[in-house]
Formats: sequence, structure tokens, C-alpha cells
Amino acid sequence: MQDNIEIRNPATGAVAATLPSSTTVELENTLSLLKQGQRDWAKVPLQDRLECIIQFGQLILANKQELSEILTNETGKPITQSLNEINGAQNRIEHLRKNATKWLSEEVVVSEGATLENIRYEPLGVIANISAWNFPYNVGFNVFLYALVAGNAVLYKPSEFATLTGLQFAKYLYQAGIPENVFHCIVGDGRIGEHILSLPLDGYFFTGSYKTGLHIATTVAHKLVPVQLELGGKDPLYVADDVADIKQAAVSAAEGAFYNNGQSCCAVERIYVSALIYDRFVEAFIEEVASYRVGDPMDVDTFIGPLTRAEQLVVLEDQVKDALQKGARLRLGGHVLEGKGYYYAPTVFDHCDHRMALMCDETFGPLIGIQKVSSDEEAIGLMQDTAYGLTAAVFSSDRDRAMRILDQMDTGTVYWNCCDRVSPNVPWSGRRNSGLGSTLSAQGIRAFVQPKAYHLRP
Ligand code: NAD
Repeated sequence: MQDNIEIRNPATGAVAATLPSSTTVELENTLSLLKQGQRDWAKVPLQDRLECIIQFGQLILANKQELSEILTNETGKPITQSLNEINGAQNRIEHLRKNATKWLSEEVVVSEGATLENIRYEPLGVIANISAWNFPYNVGFNVFLYALVAGNAVLYKPSEFATLTGLQFAKYLYQAGIPENVFHCIVGDGRIGEHILSLPLDGYFFTGSYKTGLHIATTVAHKLVPVQLELGGKDPLYVADDVADIKQAAVSAAEGAFYNNGQSCCAVERIYVSALIYDRFVEAFIEEVASYRVGDPMDVDTFIGPLTRAEQLVVLEDQVKDALQKGARLRLGGHVLEGKGYYYAPTVFDHCDHRMALMCDETFGPLIGIQKVSSDEEAIGLMQDTAYGLTAAVFSSDRDRAMRILDQMDTGTVYWNCCDRVSPNVPWSGRRNSGLGSTLSAQGIRAFVQPKAYHLRP
């Protein structure tokens, strides 16, 4: 029996498409094709594999208007942000173009004497890429483009909330010269994802929630193949009393919290502000958030669209109720918006503390809590009071002061006077409940290969 998946437009709740879900039999047949295809693909010279990816990038850019509309229709991401994502994700391709040869080529380590010693970097084989919906270009490219360049075949499962975009990736990869038995897009939800875990793949690369990531890692642990997890966060931002421009700090913090409706893994999820500037910061922050245009995501001026998943509205309502009960002060929003679609009013609380769920659990929506602190030490303690470890940010005009704080953060990424930012030049990694392993940078290129040591006596 075959299930269908329904793709709904979050702006209206209407069904935008119905697609047959991949079946377990299809999945098994696909895997044997990928196994064959991968062996040939690994023999294609690296430069030719890279050329395919560069061509793919050009095809994506040439079709970005249509692709941005597909993304907006299925996720509710405002169209300007869909276009930004499509343009921005090109930097992964540029990073590969400049660095793949350096990090994937054979290394001659000892070239003189009786025994020569070399390292070759071999692909892992056929890897699974189980992905999220919130930035399908960014998080997808971090994995499947890097895997393909390294000579792997990829079984790609986009989120059921970004399926149409995932199918477009397959179409343009094939047009760019990637063989059909080297990349395959699976259609379906967690049930087909679960079946992927039972198949003999050579690596599992996952982007999504902590709960699913933990389940995947424990389920496949016995296979002893590489597992990478890019998971959620509860990312703190601390605004110190010496910020050069309080208004500018508030504008940047608000954008970090509300871009993509707060549905970024590295969105600012909680804010600590020095008591000395607290009132001025909070006023500027509220003024900025109140100015956001909420509405139809197809409108180029919209900054806040609907949430992607209707069920997240309940998470937001629960966090709001909990914060009110525990004494937080509601300064803006705090309710579902009337009418069609999954809209929640941009919401700001102050006078928050760590008894409240909105300061401790991932919110993943347009809701933020602000807490007053009296010293850097208090801020450090609160920022570190979490099981997550994705990013942490400090706004201060004093670099040494900021670095002293950031050095104490147990997170994969830290920011000084910026936030909610990913660059292909540096590793993207989470610690503890935020993940395992790195994508991007040299580490992210090497994540898709295994070293083989050669001891050679001529
Ligand atoms: P999710 O865990 O619900 O789903 C992710 C993927 O896993 C989907 O493709 C889903 O179909 C699949 N899946 C679900 N159950 C499965 C199972 N039992 N076996 C195999 N696959 C299964 O997460 P989501 O809602 O798509 O994404 C949101 C989460 O992702 C947030 O927590 C966010 O912070 C995180 N995220 C992290 C990063 C990062 O780089 N660290 C980037 C983007 C999103």
C-alpha cells in the first residue's frame, strides 16, 4: 500500500499538492542502484564532479524566481527571504570550488627514505541525508553537495514540509550532469525516514530536532558508520552595558530573533540585557518588532509570514501561557492571528527568568523573552544554563570583554556584535543536544571521506 503526502500552503492552510510517498520496495531498489552508481561516480575525476556542482548552482540561479515561489508556497517563508536563501546558498558552491581540491587530494606525507607514506581520501559510499524544512537550500547544500563532490552517492530525504523543493534539487542535479543513480530524492515523512535507518547505508547525515536526531543516532549506532547531527538550539544573546549604539543593538537582536519567523536553528532564542541599559534596549526592541510587516509571504515587503507547521502554534501558546503565569510581562503580541493560515503575532516578553519554558525550551517561532542581568558573570551563568550548545552572542564595544565571555561558552559557534549567521569558511557544529560533527569549512569537506594510509616501499 502506498500513502500520499499532502503539501499545504501555510499561508492559507489549503492543500497545494498531493504526492505519492516513496515505498519501502522503491527505497530498497533505489539503494542497490545507488550502490552501483557510486562506484562509477567515485572514478569520475574530482574536477568533473565539481563542474557538475558549479553547473547545478548556475541552474538554480537561472530559475530562482520559480524556485523561490515553490519554497514560499510550501513553507510560508516570505518571498524576499526565499530569494535571499537561494542566492546565499551559492556561497557553499563557491567554497567547494575554491577548497575541494585542496582537502580531497592525495597527500604525500613522507616522500623520502625506504618507506613512502601517503594518505588518500576515499568517499564513504552511499550516504543518507535526512533533512529539515526551515532552510532547505542551506542545510541541504551543506550535506549533499559536499558529499557528491567527494564521490559519494546520496539518498536524500527532504522534510515532508519541503518536498517540492527537494524534488527540484533532483531535477537540476540531473540536468547538471549528476547521474540518476548517484542522487535520489525520497518523498515522505518520518515513516519512510525510519525505513532508511534499517538499510545498509554508509553514513547518516541528519538535520532536524534533538528528539529525532537522538533516535537516529541510537538506532543506527550498531552499524558503526559515521553519523552527523545538526540539531536545535536555545541560543542566547547578551547585550552588555557598553554597546556603542543601543538602538542598533536592538535592531540586530530583533532580526536575529525574528528572521524566518524565528524558525532558524541559530535564531536568537533568549536575550539578557545589562540593567544599566535595560529599559532603553527593551523600548527600542519593541519599536523595531512592532514595525515588522506581517502578512502574505508572496508579498515582497512581508517580513513575518505564517509558521510552516500548524502544530507549532500550540507550542507558542503554551510558552506564552506559562510565561504569563510565572510573572513575565507581555509587551507585544501573544496570540494567534485571526483568519486563514498559521499566523502568530510577533511576541515580546520582558521580566523573564529561567523558570519559564520560553527561556529554556526551543521556541522556533516569533516569540522572544528578555531578562535583566546585573553583571557579566550573571549573564555567563544564564547563557550556559542549557543542554543545547549551538551558538552564543555578545554585543559590546569591548572586544576583550566579549572574548572573555565567548571563550566560556560551550557552543560550536560564538558571535561578537553579530548573530544568526552561518559561513562556509568556518565549521558549523553543535555541541551536546545541538549535535555531533561539523559541516562546512575544511572539516565539512573531510566529513564525507575516510582516510586510507599507504605505506609504500618502492
Ligand atoms: P524533525 O526532527 O521533525 O524532522 C527532520 C527530518 O527527520 C524530516 O525529514 C523528518 O521527516 C525526518 N524524520 C522524522 N522522524 C524520523 C524517524 N523516526 N526516522 C528518520 N527520519 C525521521 O525536524 P524539523 O521540524 O524538520 O526541523 C526543525 C529542527 O531542526 C529544529 O529543532 C531546528 O533547530 C533544527 N535545525 C538545525 C539546524 C542546524 O544546522 N543545527 C539547521 C536547521 C534546523
